[in-house]
Amino acid sequence: MKWSGVPEVATPRVMTQALATLYLFGGSASLLAVLGSSAAWSDRAPVAGLAISALTAGAVVFRFGARWPRPAFHLAVAQATVVVVAGVVLAADAPTAVAVGALTSFLAIAACFFFSLPLAVLHIAFALIGLTGGLLAQGDVALPTALSLDAMVIGLSVVTRGLVLRASSANRDPLTRLTNRRGFDQALHELMRTVARTGEPLSAALLDLDHFKAINDTQGHAAGDRVLRQVAKVWGRALPTTAVLARHGGDEFALLLPGVPGPAALELVRSIRAMHPEIGMSCGVAEHQPGESAAQLMRRSDLALYTAKAAGRGRVELGAGPRSSDLVADLTAALDAGDVTVHFQPMLDLSTDEVVGVEALARWTHPERGPVSPAEFIAVAEQHGLMGRLGEQVVRSACTQLAALRAETGRQLRLGVNVSGRELSDPAYCDRLRRVFAETGWSASETVLEVTETLVEAESSAAVAALHQLRALGLRIAIDDFGTGYSSLSRLDTLPAAILKLDSSFIATVATSPRRATLLRSIVGMAHVLGLDVVAEGVETPAQDAELRAAGCRFGQGYLYGRPAPLADLAALLERRTERTPALRG
Ligand code: C2E
Ligand code: MG
Ligand code: MG
Repeated sequence: MKWSGVPEVATPRVMTQALATLYLFGGSASLLAVLGSSAAWSDRAPVAGLAISALTAGAVVFRFGARWPRPAFHLAVAQATVVVVAGVVLAADAPTAVAVGALTSFLAIAACFFFSLPLAVLHIAFALIGLTGGLLAQGDVALPTALSLDAMVIGLSVVTRGLVLRASSANRDPLTRLTNRRGFDQALHELMRTVARTGEPLSAALLDLDHFKAINDTQGHAAGDRVLRQVAKVWGRALPTTAVLARHGGDEFALLLPGVPGPAALELVRSIRAMHPEIGMSCGVAEHQPGESAAQLMRRSDLALYTAKAAGRGRVELGAGPRSSDLVADLTAALDAGDVTVHFQPMLDLSTDEVVGVEALARWTHPERGPVSPAEFIAVAEQHGLMGRLGEQVVRSACTQLAALRAETGRQLRLGVNVSGRELSDPAYCDRLRRVFAETGWSASETVLEVTETLVEAESSAAVAALHQLRALGLRIAIDDFGTGYSSLSRLDTLPAAILKLDSSFIATVATSPRRATLLRSIVGMAHVLGLDVVAEGVETPAQDAELRAAGCRFGQGYLYGRPAPLADLAALLERRTERTPALRG
């Protein structure tokens, strides 16, 4: 909050409670003053009437205030001012007039709490003018007495405003001036109560800047800070006024969109992302479901964010409703029953047109939903601590099947397995792999571990250390999905990788864009200089295949050569291919 802005604490609920309390105490205090006066009952009646009206107003505010729009609180405070001033003018004697006039301090406190500085000053000035005029009009009060009351009210206002500002800054992120995590949690709980009462939609989103760490590392922290401030400013302006945008920590932002259903929230987030196309952002959106807690809602946005990142950064995902929590139980059951299976996708050596390897890809068919995309169930597994089991089952099954194929046909294939960030940072991962190799008769030297550069980046030095350990075991490391988002060239040099897998989104354009084709050649050339093998992923058309060969890309993988399939289909494909070898080039 700027010092002159509307204080953070001024949510409808807080304003309602504060205003109702002030009305009730003001009314009671006035009644006491009336009772204590020695004037005739008939002279005391007007103020007694006003006191009762204040008590009634307090009850009305308490009952309905939370639904009022903000301007209604201006009216309520102004109306209270009028009541107080009327009470002062109509008071039967000086003590009653001063006692009622002192209630102006209540109005000043409310104004300091509720409104922006200029409007608060306006309310207070209005009240003070009314108070002074009222006291003088009452007739029994001298000017110095009136001025002393004014001074008290002004002093109280200054102190209250200061305290309000302090309380608000506890909920602020000093860098971006956005709400911080604490303020966000408060706003979330506040909105959850509103949702429970009104049933209006509420969407929550988690936004994560892609490769922010790279900006910090390469351009310095000042540049990183600038990016954070910049996005905070631009997004803040573009969002509806009811939205709560918070910096959740690091490069993660959180957003609450009251009144906005999930699909509209998704569109909104896409539109704000488009304002900064140069700054990649992944986002997970979830719409509140009836009966869901705040924590559950945020967990689903987190899951959606994770899915967006796993599907290649720079995406926006809408959480799959409460069903993703059902998925956890079903996935656990599938793992218990061994229902998660493996498909193999062939990888071709383009110089000989021979299948030289396969990539193992996890597959799961849900009993009711049918096939679930790996991006979705892997995110679920990661979020719920199932990834270790899932990864192990996939690797074990792949090794067993390929060892059997090798025994049967003598075919020497290289096996690519994907590893997720969380598996890699598990200290037991390396031992688990070693055990699987020992038990299946497959060897580490025939295995390639596919890691995405972004996951390694996210999982820090522990992951990089694990990669070194795995390489020492004899495995080769491939950087998967290279060319998505913001791949950093320096990483190629620092990761202990032997293979670069170019992402399908990059391959998709090489045959249609001459610039992309040139870029492809440079990347292939550079990878070779670094001693890396290059695998093109997602090759779908003969034109892409021709472009890859022309660029000197050695390996290819994609629907053109073979879709991921059970091992039996792969064995059949291998047989067909040995019969008619250079079939692809024609
Ligand atoms: P990935 O490692 O990049 O796998 C390649 C993905 O591209 C696969 O998607 C594959 O089916 C798809 N693909 C292959 N050829 C083509 C093509 O010509 N065109 C197009 N459009 N797509 C093609 P899939 O099977 O949906 O897997 C998605 C991702 O899920 C994988 O991306 C990988 O990151 C992850 N994943 C799959 N299985 C596992 C696993 O066992 N463990 C872990 N940690 N991750 C896995
Ligand atoms: Mg892969
Ligand atoms: Mg890939």
